[in-house]
Amino acid sequence: MILRKGAPEKLWAFWGKSSAAPKDDSLDDAVCLEFEPLAAGKKSDFEIGSIINVMRRLGVHASIAGGLPKSLERARALGCSTLQIFSHNPRGWALTDIPEEEARRFRRLREKLGLDPVFIHACYLINLASANIGTREKSLLMLDEEMRRADLIGADYVVVHAGQPAGRPADYPSDHESGGDTGDSGYVLLVQSLKKVLGSRKKRFRAGPQAAGLLLENAACPPQFGGAASIKTLALAAGSSGAAGLCLDTCHAFASGYDIRTASGLSELARQTQGVSVRLVHLNDSKGQIGSGLDRHEHLGKGRIGTGGLRRFIRFGPFRGLPLVLETPRKEESDDPMNLEAARALIGR
Ligand SMILES: [Zn+2]
Ligand SMILES: [Zn+2]
Repeated sequence: MILRKGAPEKLWAFWGKSSAAPKDDSLDDAVCLEFEPLAAGKKSDFEIGSIINVMRRLGVHASIAGGLPKSLERARALGCSTLQIFSHNPRGWALTDIPEEEARRFRRLREKLGLDPVFIHACYLINLASANIGTREKSLLMLDEEMRRADLIGADYVVVHAGQPAGRPADYPSDHESGGDTGDSGYVLLVQSLKKVLGSRKKRFRAGPQAAGLLLENAACPPQFGGAASIKTLALAAGSSGAAGLCLDTCHAFASGYDIRTASGLSELARQTQGVSVRLVHLNDSKGQIGSGLDRHEHLGKGRIGTGGLRRFIRFGPFRGLPLVLETPRKEESDDPMNLEAARALIGR
C-alpha cells in the first residue's frame, strides 16, 4: 500500500516524521496507503478522518532486556506500529557501546516489521538547564551520545526532558518527576545547551545521512515553577534552538494545569505550541489532580483525565494524526494489552 504524492496534507501528519507531503515522487514504502482516489479531490473530511484513525501510529515504551532488537519483537507482539525505547539504563551515567552487529540487526528488523517512527527516550539524569556547569557539561555529553546512538540504530527521534527550573538544587536527583524549565535563567541555559548539542551535530551531518531529530518533552510542572506556562517555554526553546519539535505527555500537561479535557484547554495548548511541530504524544492518564504537579501515570481511562478527556485530546485537530506511545503502568503482563485496547477504542477503531 502506498501513500502517494497528492494525498491531502492531513494524511501525512500521522507519519510523525514530516507534516508535509514530499515535494517529489518519493514513496514511503514502510508504512503506506494506496490513495489514488484522492487525486480527484473527492474524499470528504469524514473519510479522511477514518483513514487517519486506521493508520494512526500506536505503540508502547518497550523493554530492551535481552538486547535492543528484542524491544521490536515485544512491540510487534503487542500489535504496535511504533515504539519508544531507552538505549541504556536511563537512571545512570554509565554506558556500554552498542555493537555494530546489534545496531544492524535492529535496523533490519525494524524495517521488516514496519515499526515507524522509532523514539529513544533519553537518560533521566540529563539536565540541560542546570545552573551547575558540571551537571550541564555531563548532560551535553550524554545527550550527544543519546543522539549518536539513535543515528546508529536508525531511530527517528530522541525525546529529552529539558531540565529543572532555576531555583532548585542543581543536583536535584533527576527521575521521571524532574520538572520543566520556567525561570528566565533556566531558559537561557537550556537554549544554550540545545544549540551546543544541535550545532555540533549539524557540522557532523553536513553531507551525511539523515540524522535523528530532538524532541523536548513537557514535564509535570508544579504551579510554583510556572505550571501551565511550561509548554510555551519549551516551544520557544525548541523553536530558537533548531530542535525538531515537542513530545507532549498528557499526564504531565494535565498535572501542570492544562485542562486537556475541555475545548478551551486544548485551544490554549494548541496556541502555546503554535510555530513548533508536535511530533509525539505520550498517552497517559493521570493519578494526580489537574495542576497537582504530580508525575504519576495511570491506566487509560482510570485516572483524572478519564476516557472522555483522553479521547478529546487525541482527536483534537492539531494533534489528530500524531503517533501515540503509552507509558502506562506495567505491573501485570496484561497491562500493556489492556491499555493498547483502550487506546484503540479512543482512536475509534
Ligand atoms: Zn519522559
Ligand atoms: Zn511522567
